[in-house]
Amino acid sequence: MASLTFLGAAGTVTGSRYLLEAHGARLLIDAGLFQGKKELRLRNWAEFPVAPSSLSAVVLTHAHIDHTGFLPRLVRDGFGGPAYVTPPTRTLLHALLPDAAKLQEEEARFANKVGSTRHTPALPLFTSHDAHEALATLQALPFGQKATIQPGIEFRYHRQGHILGAAAVELRIKVAGGDHITIYFSGDVGRFDVPILRPPEPYPGSTYLVVESTYGDTFHDPGDPREQLADVISEAVQRKGIILVPAFAVDRTQELLYFLRELIEDAAIPPLPIFLDSPMAREATEVYRSCALEHNAEMRELVREGDRPLFPQTLTIVGPVEESKRLNSATGPAIVISASGMATGGRILHHLRHRLPDPATTVVFVGYQAEGTRGRRILEGEREVKIFGEMVPVRAQVRSIPSLSAHADADELTIWASEAPAAPKVAFVTHGEPAASQALAERLTRRLGWQCAVPSLEETVQL
Ligand SMILES: [Zn+2]
Repeated sequence: MASLTFLGAAGTVTGSRYLLEAHGARLLIDAGLFQGKKELRLRNWAEFPVAPSSLSAVVLTHAHIDHTGFLPRLVRDGFGGPAYVTPPTRTLLHALLPDAAKLQEEEARFANKVGSTRHTPALPLFTSHDAHEALATLQALPFGQKATIQPGIEFRYHRQGHILGAAAVELRIKVAGGDHITIYFSGDVGRFDVPILRPPEPYPGSTYLVVESTYGDTFHDPGDPREQLADVISEAVQRKGIILVPAFAVDRTQELLYFLRELIEDAAIPPLPIFLDSPMAREATEVYRSCALEHNAEMRELVREGDRPLFPQTLTIVGPVEESKRLNSATGPAIVISASGMATGGRILHHLRHRLPDPATTVVFVGYQAEGTRGRRILEGEREVKIFGEMVPVRAQVRSIPSLSAHADADELTIWASEAPAAPKVAFVTHGEPAASQALAERLTRRLGWQCAVPSLEETVQL
């Protein structure tokens, strides 16, 4: 009657893609890129198991590329839309998808230049043209409003915190006898007590649940991220070097700017120069500022008082590449915030190549570093890392702010799940490395008495 196939985010945190088939309709919930390890990235090139043109709709939970970055490829291979998104997600994707395409194109160009490819010529997974075609398929659906895919299949979005526009998807499917089942896709679950955004809506219960488990086996450091950030910066200021922060352009950068503004206003750190060196992060910050409907009470209050909560007084927004290059001669102490957050691409790579060999530099990680990424290798203390095809020695100090995260941890996921008035028939635990998914499944069973399953990649279940 209805079947669900886990085409991604099973046994890994990236490549979210869930294929739901019912009443002859085919829905893809999330169309994410696989990222990280090469064997995962290669999956992006594999033929999609069903003809993209046969998809009735794509329903995206939020703007992160590991949830949306496969859409351009689907569109290029025949998917004609609609791809549903929340309104803020649509705005963010107008910046993110063309940028992802540009990165793909640059990588292919670079691989061709240095000959670091077995394919001649190396091709981008999708082009800027594909990204723009994908944007044309987006259909914005406000939170709480119902969309009908076809009679008997409808869904709506619930706020999920995590990042601006992030949603859970509640899908309702009619079954025999006039009854219906509901399938709730958690998307990425945000946290309850973070600045800027409204908190996640509680899980209302459903027949089936698909729940993420990025931090299914970990507990966030209970410390105050403001204090930890103040400590790391104060320590780094003594070294008089540059503080390099690889930050996710969307959300983490805005949170960081929010905290830095507070710390400077409270004189908890000196008013040192802050450079925001990422066109994407700059654009995302503007989108965060403008989406007042998504702001939490504290943010709204600050804005009402005439404050600019996301813009510390010492902030310089770095423009074109030449300005970014000039930062090479900047002397510390100063903070450079640049994307990407796992150091897999973007302007941060140039800064890392230039600054990692300098022991006065401090690299501060402020988010999840997936297995196989350059960020993870630096964080785990590797003595040299490969950047632009050359080995760069790591002599910089490496720190992380463990309490900063856009994802709920094992406790918060359990609290979020426990709000349901009744247990789902089965909770499918996905979007985690295997140990994390297993741990969350066991925890939900032990604490809530739920029946859980950890699906494997490409597994199909009948609902
Ligand atoms: Zn996400």
